[in-house]
Amino acid sequence: MNDVLARLGLSDLNPGAWNGAAIADGYDGEITSENPATGEALARVQLATRAQYEAVVKEAERAFREWRMLPAPKRGELVRQMAEAFRAKKEDLGALVSLEVGKIRAEGQGEVQETIDIADYAVGLSRQLYGLSMHSERSSHRMYEQWHPLGLVSVITAFNFPNAVWAWNAMIAAVCGDAVVWKPSLKAPLTAIATHRACEEVLAKNGWSGLFGLVIGRDADVGETMIRDPRFPLVSATGSTRMGRHVGRVVADRLGRSLLELGGNNAIIVEPSADLGLALRGILFGAVGTAGQRCTTTRRLFLHRSIAADFTARLVAAWKQVRIGDPLAEGTLVGPLIDAGAVAGFEHAVAAAVAQGGEVLVGGQRVDRPGHFVQPTIIRARPEMPICKEETFAPILYVFEYSELGEAIAAQNDVAQGLSSAIFTDSFRSAETFLSAAGSDCGIANVNIGTSGAEIGGAFGGEKETGGGREAGSDSWKAYMRRQTCTLNWGRDLPLAQGISFDV
Ligand code: NAD
Repeated sequence: MNDVLARLGLSDLNPGAWNGAAIADGYDGEITSENPATGEALARVQLATRAQYEAVVKEAERAFREWRMLPAPKRGELVRQMAEAFRAKKEDLGALVSLEVGKIRAEGQGEVQETIDIADYAVGLSRQLYGLSMHSERSSHRMYEQWHPLGLVSVITAFNFPNAVWAWNAMIAAVCGDAVVWKPSLKAPLTAIATHRACEEVLAKNGWSGLFGLVIGRDADVGETMIRDPRFPLVSATGSTRMGRHVGRVVADRLGRSLLELGGNNAIIVEPSADLGLALRGILFGAVGTAGQRCTTTRRLFLHRSIAADFTARLVAAWKQVRIGDPLAEGTLVGPLIDAGAVAGFEHAVAAAVAQGGEVLVGGQRVDRPGHFVQPTIIRARPEMPICKEETFAPILYVFEYSELGEAIAAQNDVAQGLSSAIFTDSFRSAETFLSAAGSDCGIANVNIGTSGAEIGGAFGGEKETGGGREAGSDSWKAYMRRQTCTLNWGRDLPLAQGISFDV
């Protein structure tokens, strides 16, 4: 057993249903979590049964009834302790993220830092769950709105942020007074168990349990049961658009709320006035970071015709220097894709791009070594090629030329997804055009910063097929609470609104 796993309390065979302690009551088969950099088995996980799912949800319901009555700042104090627990475990948890999903060391650590940041943010938020007060049109009346805990929140997470995406939801939901049940990706179950246990230790020390449930189970069974379960007024699901379309429909059918964070097809526009050194670094990080497996990965690049040839040559030279290899080794910039299916998806996209008229400028091949490695790839293409409109979860950057900014913005927007976008320019007018109502149609629009690496203080999410959800900062917390409008009459009359008289 790997030392990191052992220090995080993982064993060779781990239960898949948790609510505080493991719920050991049978299991529905088991899966093996593998290191995508080597193909080696890390540990096994037993898949949860429906009976275990039921036990986890029941326990979350029980915990919610008490938790919702704890003053929000006191809930924040427990979340503060969770932030401390994550600080103490950052090194090991970050290494586990690297081992299980192949992120390079800095990105694994960075993911846990995001969890710490959102927990810190939630602590402050626990004293700022404000409602508005309004002036009543009736005398001796007071009208205001307050925010109450929503209930049980189910959180479904993608493989590529196996720690932070849960925390984005759970830390905010916890200070809002909700209980959370988590169904993680079967591609990253160990990170989920270690993350759950880190929080549970804090809860137990404070005499709490049941607030965070974890069920690791099959989509067709536990997943489907969860999204149909009316005990969850909110389903927060992060993953592919295909998954989100299905989850959104099912939850809407029972008139529940869904918060969907789905696929992106993010673009950067580079203007002739841009600081090209800055642009190069932003594009490199955005396109090859996390081996192209971020929802905010830069997948499309619009270069102004006047700079395209020289700048493309600089990009190709930079791509050739990127070190691919063991994610935990010093100097590695690109680790593996998550699994063999992802490598097949990469190869399919490269072949489709070539068949549709694209030209591979660098990369395009799988790497001949154990694990699931591919070469970061640049393809000269046209924006209207069908493959450029799809999200391929791999390090492929399609490069286009444009003449007018309006043409580039229109082409950037002409995809089904609407997550992140950026422009590199020193022109004030171009920047404001890009940010205007007629500019980028994405949830995130940046100037002189790439498409990936969002800060938790802003609301995170995207439009169109990205699902419309917002998580993390700003007023995203409102998704995890229910709004109540209250009117108090402290007079001796009963005036009706709109001047209606109803005398007897
Ligand atoms: P995926 O859609 O294959 O799986 C995501 C999650 O959905 C997993 O936990 C999976 O088990 C679950 N799921 C699938 N079918 C389900 C069902 N019927 N019922 C309940 N749960 C179900 O996605 P993935 O491959 O893990 O992640 C990559 C995708 O996630 C990419 O499209 C990426 O852009 C997207 N993503 C988006 C964001 C964002 O914030 N917008 C963040 C990270 C990843």
